[in-house]
Amino acid sequence: MSTEKKEKTSVRLVFMGAAGVGKTSLIQRFLQDTFDPKHRRTVEELHSREYEVGGVKVTIHIMDTSGSYSFPAMRKLSIQNGDAFALVYAVDDPDSLEAVKSLREEILEVKEDKFPPIVVVGNKIDRRGERRVSSGDVLSTVELDWNNSFLEASAKDNENVVEVFQELLQQANLPSKLSPVLRRRRETFPKDANHRPPMNKANSCLIS
Ligand code: GDP
Ligand code: MG
Repeated sequence: MSTEKKEKTSVRLVFMGAAGVGKTSLIQRFLQDTFDPKHRRTVEELHSREYEVGGVKVTIHIMDTSGSYSFPAMRKLSIQNGDAFALVYAVDDPDSLEAVKSLREEILEVKEDKFPPIVVVGNKIDRRGERRVSSGDVLSTVELDWNNSFLEASAKDNENVVEVFQELLQQANLPSKLSPVLRRRRETFPKDANHRPPMNKANSCLIS
């Protein structure tokens, strides 16, 4: 892969991690500002959203994966097609951090890239009493050893969710202008998920 920074008009963000860590919840929180306390099994789901930045249409594809190891071919394909990866674990589940480590290995292999764009996300920080993974250890592994970014988040409490997406977009080398646009866009999100505004027209005035 080229290390040259290129501006893209389409970008694919891939969410990976063990089942139950909150991948689907983080994506739903970002897209709809909702939280579902139930766990529904995801096989694989692709969400696409269009933004307009300085007259340029940018499509963001968000790939939600199952976390299941029973579909290795599917997982490889998701990796091949991904521009940036959110590797999610839950802070109350040390095994899920191990899963992040092996997923990273797999991404390095498939991408043949020593520094693929990865954001490691420790989710469920609202579960304070149940925390079993300390942030300091993960921080030094991710930022010093791996040279990737690390964020802790809560899909439930909407903590650091937008930041996860901003970091992913930045790593995927989208035009940097997009980040503030996304932030403003999220702030204008209505709480009622059934009345989300259309992506382009309604927001284009915010963008220029
Ligand atoms: P996925 O399998 O990684 O997609 O995980 P889900 O998004 O389906 O979430 C699995 C379970 O964890 C569900 O019951 C969610 O409601 C719950 N969950 C997800 N994110 C959080 C969070 O930030 N805090 C808490 N307390 N629970 C969460
Ligand atoms: Mg899911």
